[in-house]
Amino acid sequence: MLNIKNLHVSLEEEDKQILKGVDLTVEAGKVHAIMGPNGSGKSTLSYVLSGKDGYEVTEGSAELLGEDLLDIDPEERAALGLFLAFQYPVEIPGVGNMTFLRTAVNSQRKARGEDEMSATEFLKVVRERAKSLKIDADMLKRPVNVGFSGGEKKRNEILQMAMLEPKMCILDETDSGLDVDAMKLVAEGVNALRSEGRGFLVITHYQRLLDHIKPDVVHIMANGRIVKTGGPELALEVEQNGYADILAEVA
Ligand code: ADP
Ligand code: MG
Ligand code: MG
Repeated sequence: MLNIKNLHVSLEEEDKQILKGVDLTVEAGKVHAIMGPNGSGKSTLSYVLSGKDGYEVTEGSAELLGEDLLDIDPEERAALGLFLAFQYPVEIPGVGNMTFLRTAVNSQRKARGEDEMSATEFLKVVRERAKSLKIDADMLKRPVNVGFSGGEKKRNEILQMAMLEPKMCILDETDSGLDVDAMKLVAEGVNALRSEGRGFLVITHYQRLLDHIKPDVVHIMANGRIVKTGGPELALEVEQNGYADILAEVA
């Protein structure tokens, strides 16, 4: 599904290397988690994959379903099936949440040469999926994320994901700022989307999210590289001992 090889990334503005050779393969149907200390480059990796400005790829490659991701525009990456749930969801004043979702769904369908979703079908589906994430009708009518609480913004990211039905979902610290109940809702939303043809990359600081979204593989990222890979037990080890032991072991 996602195939990243020896990815090196620097900031465009200053001469600073952030990713220093990331190797990562996420298979269809699998959930991979990335944990790691603050500042290790986890968000940068998700930004570079989705095509945010300001980063320069100096070496390496990233492919989605065999297509060179780094060579195409962000909207083409999205139409190909890439989705990023932001660590800090953006407020978009003046754009209704429902309008935003419908435009996103239909522009992707159009880019793929598929028929648009009718207004009736869209309403039915969005209401159903919003309800299961406990997003009320009022939040669907308000401008995107404007005045939403931290937890509501994160749930709204999952609603976007549920509506777009992407092939490769990247969640960047979607659990941060969530109370236990909101985290369970987010986890249920993710689990409902788990399927044979879909891959997940779940970036998180805390093991607790992984109690609810059981990962197949856990990676530890430090200083711009994946330094250790293991099963779910690796997340438990981090929970108990922090990163110090692992970092000392790989140093
Ligand atoms: P993480 O998500 O693992 O906490 P980030 O990817 O946010 O890490 O950041 C990795 C490093 O790159 C940090 O030292 C951060 O300060 C730096 N960095 C990332 N983006 C920028 C930027 N646009 N300008 C300056 N520094 C940046
Ligand atoms: Mg961080
Ligand atoms: Mg981050």
